[in-house]
Amino acid sequence: MLLLCAAAVAVWSPGEAARTSGALTVLLDPPLPAPPLPGVTGPADAPLVVIDAGHGGHDPGAKSAGGEQEKDLTLALVRSVRDALIASGRVRVALTRADDRYLVLGERSEMARRLGASLFLSIHADSAGEDDQAHGATLYTLSETASDAEAAALAARENKADVVRGVNLSGRDEAVASILIDLARRESLEGATAFVRLLHGQAKGVLPFRQDYHRKASLVVLKAPDVPSVLFETGYITNENDRSLLSSADGRARVAMAVAKAVEKQLIPVSKR
Ligand SMILES: [Zn+2]
Repeated sequence: MLLLCAAAVAVWSPGEAARTSGALTVLLDPPLPAPPLPGVTGPADAPLVVIDAGHGGHDPGAKSAGGEQEKDLTLALVRSVRDALIASGRVRVALTRADDRYLVLGERSEMARRLGASLFLSIHADSAGEDDQAHGATLYTLSETASDAEAAALAARENKADVVRGVNLSGRDEAVASILIDLARRESLEGATAFVRLLHGQAKGVLPFRQDYHRKASLVVLKAPDVPSVLFETGYITNENDRSLLSSADGRARVAMAVAKAVEKQLIPVSKR
């Protein structure tokens, strides 16, 4: 546990009495340890995709009228995508969660960074509450305006000791670190945008997409600056057609195959397909 006092910032080891006579003492939660990295499956040296099933554990996500939970639909779908990619055997794949557990948003993209992934895909299903007419899939990439400030904040926060896309930022001044992170971020956004086109192309015959299917938002789970990251809202589980497609084994298998093909097109050069 960390104890901070107004007069001076100090850290005590757990159990040690705080010597703060007359000073304000604030109790903070201890920092959480980084979660263990998930297992990676696939041929050595093949490019890696990290696939994230949205929500989990005490966070069910969206719910259908019949009680189906987003966290279960997304888990079943990412397992199907993983199985399709393993069967094809051309990329490596890791899941942020392979069971019903809770992960903080930042942990999910951080796993992709720590594993050196070439692509991060977070899979979700949407809810429109009482509106059962809203339907269709949406693909999200990080909003550029929101992420400019993020890049600067990341540079400051990581205190230049981090490595972004193979560039060691240690010892560089903050402005240079910020520029290098920004370059990596732009490259990652280009990769994410290319993947949006590929995934839409592969999946549009399998599930309906919204008219404006590519949207940009400041989503925490997409903020790894050096891994192309896309969030796939596969449809509305409050809409009967979307829900029945996503919750049937056949529909899930078809969506999973489309996602797997798009991942391979993104990560494997044309000459090697
Ligand atoms: Zn969700």
